[in-house]
Amino acid sequence: MGAMKGSALVARDYRTGRRVRLVWRAGVIREVTPEPGAGRGDPWVAPALVDLQVNGFAGTDFRADSVSEADLARAIAGLHRSGCTRFLLTLFTEDWKTLLGRLRRFRALRKHAPSFLRAVVGWHIEGPFLSAAPGFRGAHPAEAMRDPSLEAIRELRRCAGPGPILLTLAPERRGAIAAIREAVALGMRVSLGHTDASAACLEAAAAAGATGFTHLGNGCPPALDRHDNILWRILERTDLTVSLIPDQVHVSPPLFRIIHRLLPPDRIIYVSDAMAGAGSGPGVYRLGSLELAVGRDQRVRLPGTQLYAGSALRPVDGVERAVAMLGDAVRAERRAGDGAPWAAAWDRFSTLPAAWMGLPSTLSPGAPADFCVIQTNRDGTIRTLQVWSGGQETE
Ligand SMILES: [Zn+2]
Repeated sequence: MGAMKGSALVARDYRTGRRVRLVWRAGVIREVTPEPGAGRGDPWVAPALVDLQVNGFAGTDFRADSVSEADLARAIAGLHRSGCTRFLLTLFTEDWKTLLGRLRRFRALRKHAPSFLRAVVGWHIEGPFLSAAPGFRGAHPAEAMRDPSLEAIRELRRCAGPGPILLTLAPERRGAIAAIREAVALGMRVSLGHTDASAACLEAAAAAGATGFTHLGNGCPPALDRHDNILWRILERTDLTVSLIPDQVHVSPPLFRIIHRLLPPDRIIYVSDAMAGAGSGPGVYRLGSLELAVGRDQRVRLPGTQLYAGSALRPVDGVERAVAMLGDAVRAERRAGDGAPWAAAWDRFSTLPAAWMGLPSTLSPGAPADFCVIQTNRDGTIRTLQVWSGGQETE
């Protein structure tokens, strides 16, 4: 174990396997320098995970009407224990005024503590501009869906204030292409999702500035036309940043591997899409007005249906499950030297989503001192995880 006193530590860089000395001050990384010595027994150091889709965590539901300071603190602490220090607080389809009211309340709540501001780095607004078609809408209520307007996009920007916004919408909705242009002009990232858009419509959305696709393989019906469906239309493109839920449930392991073979490696990111049951045990949890059952298998279902509604995935488990699904392919992706076997999967849940949202996250001077120190077992699985946020070790 490397020295960890004060505001410096020695560990192996997760990408290269080289021993480095990391120095931080006032919550920011100041120096990363090579440290002599072989360091094979040293732990790994990697940037903390960044999750762009979190609906709730550790018993806290972000769609509840009254989320207290203690509730938000519990969700953040649960995410810290899962390797994630920064996330986009995700709100999904409901009456537009209600959704904006919720956003205003979270924006006010976030100012109550520096730790909240550090953790909630922005917002993911998933809906209400989605496809209401059965299967494509998933667990989103069709009656609250609507077409986007330029005014709605401007209202969203005003409510959220400055800072990252990820907006998931279906480009086939009336007015969506103009709305994408406006959202991008106002500094938002636009991701397509819960959509059955044609190839031509997807092309128009990309030309208007959409750069992502939300949880590919989900937000679509279980049975699809074998000749032409939303999966094929997206897999044919290579220009969108595609998010996947790597819990071995939302995307089957063969499809997960196939997607990795077809898309450029840096265009895939992972999100948990976690709901309140994540980071807790099996049981019944709320997601807004929905009551959801989390089984022993961590599957989250609308009771009485096979519909998934969010996941119970802890981000760090997402990395390990991605590695388990990808096997040798992900180990071969190690960028340089003798990095950690999970380095490429780790990047898809940290540096890549952060870069897409314009957040600094690499292990380099000037980035936030948000990192994980990891001891692995012989087989490469994670044995211990320590997490630093803003230069402070979390509980
Ligand atoms: Zn969704």
